Amino acid sequence: MPDVSCKIAVIGAGTAGLAAFRSARELTDDVLLIESGPLGTTCAREGCMPSKALIASAKVAATARGGESFGVKTSVKVDGPAVMKRVRRLRDHFVDGVIEGYRAIPEAQRLRGRAKFLAPGILDVGGRRVEAERIVIATGSEAVIPGDIAEATGGRFMTVGDIFELHGLPERLLILGSGVIGCEIADSMASLGVEVSCLSKGGDISFLSDPLVKSAAETILKGHFRLLPDAEFELLGWEGDVFSVKLAEGDGPQTEGFDAVLVATGRKPSLNDLNLEKAGLELDDQGTPQFDELTRLCRGSEDKPVFIAGDADAETMVLPRANWTGEAAGRNAANWPSVGKADAPPTMGICFTEPSMAQVGKRFSEVEDRDDLLIGCADFSDQGRAICEGRNEGILRIYGSAKDQKILGAEMIGPDAEHHAHILALMLRQEITISEAQEMPAYHPVTEEGLRTALRNLSD
Ligand SMILES: Cc1cc2nc3c(=O)[nH]c(=O)nc-3n(C[C@H](O)[C@H](O)[C@H](O)COP(=O)(O)OP(=O)(O)OC[C@H]3O[C@@H](n4cnc5c(N)ncnc54)[C@H](O)[C@@H]3O)c2cc1C
Repeated sequence: MPDVSCKIAVIGAGTAGLAAFRSARELTDDVLLIESGPLGTTCAREGCMPSKALIASAKVAATARGGESFGVKTSVKVDGPAVMKRVRRLRDHFVDGVIEGYRAIPEAQRLRGRAKFLAPGILDVGGRRVEAERIVIATGSEAVIPGDIAEATGGRFMTVGDIFELHGLPERLLILGSGVIGCEIADSMASLGVEVSCLSKGGDISFLSDPLVKSAAETILKGHFRLLPDAEFELLGWEGDVFSVKLAEGDGPQTEGFDAVLVATGRKPSLNDLNLEKAGLELDDQGTPQFDELTRLCRGSEDKPVFIAGDADAETMVLPRANWTGEAAGRNAANWPSVGKADAPPTMGICFTEPSMAQVGKRFSEVEDRDDLLIGCADFSDQGRAICEGRNEGILRIYGSAKDQKILGAEMIGPDAEHHAHILALMLRQEITISEAQEMPAYHPVTEEGLRTALRNLSD
């Protein structure tokens, strides 16, 4: 006899799991939400929200420091402990809100403990046996720590969640990795007066794939902190409170010391403890389930259906995607065997540096080989409103199809990039033609005029 049996078990009470739970519960009460970790979701506890709280303080510092060029004299002193206290206060506020929602779920529908598969449709949750007709995997993701970094640091490093636990700001911060998290933390810490070196291998800058946008981003960010996205370096290790790195830059190798090390070398799905080999699923050679993107059904699980949602599926790891994949997985689990294909929104990525970087729809790397490719570009260095505000840097590139007369996607760095990406996402969602998009209204003077310029010069 199982300890618990239910129609649907959702593993993980993060954004995707909560969305799956909610959408399944609209159709049946027989749903169990299983969670092992601290409650509150990655977004609120160590992701989107505390990082944006830190960035908000950084933005105030950068604006105040730049006041003189506007004829406004200020003297700026960053109070590190106060900045970090505010970050934690806001983080706790967001986490508490999520926990309140979780506690409102009837006790019979939630279970605390680590879930792992014993067989298809059967889980062990902290020693209790749970039998479920259908299961949703929404276990999120975790930081990747490369072996050489773990070894050189002897485990003495921070991942992004640890940053928000700091009670003051380090003087010299080494960030390994120039992806979205590396760039956001590097840019904000530098604005707060921390001496930041962000080193990476391979040349990536956030999610950008368009060489022109990437090159603009590299130039802009290099003006804020030391950024070496394809660096030659050797991690030497800690000596007392100083972590040393041998770095080839300029005149040759030099050794430098840092007070703190942040590892931001990417994230991987948290699937290791699930015993997926016992779940009867088709797995790839990384052990990730194969699934249908729109139904969220894992291949090989048709007898005992398993759905997957959020960061756990190893695709683009962002919150809006965790939400819609969670909703789709929960709804299809409840409706099984009748499954619907979810209406996937256009992909969007935003990296909240100042100025921000954004990507919407197809990336350049996905469209560059098309023989009907149209590209429209706007250069913000000469954009009226951006000049008035001293934010005139960056470029925006939009990709279109000459054959279909449709917008395909865009990449950008520049003033208000996060908002331009949203306008373009709406256009993609509405599937409007290029000529309809070119009629986009814009007030004056606004940075949206830059977006309209790029749309108007979409050509091959
Ligand atoms: C620093 C940072 C900044 C970010 N900024 C943004 C941003 O600005 N915008 C944006 O859109 N996205 C951002 N993201 C990404 C976003 O936070 C994630 O995509 C989203 O939170 C993923 O939600 P999830 O439900 O898949 O995972 P999670 O919220 O991590 O939920 C997974 C849950 O599963 C539980 N779990 C795992 N294994 C088991 C098990 N075996 N049994 C039981 N429970 C288990 C975990 O404890 C966890 O609670 C950021 C991420 C980070 C790290």
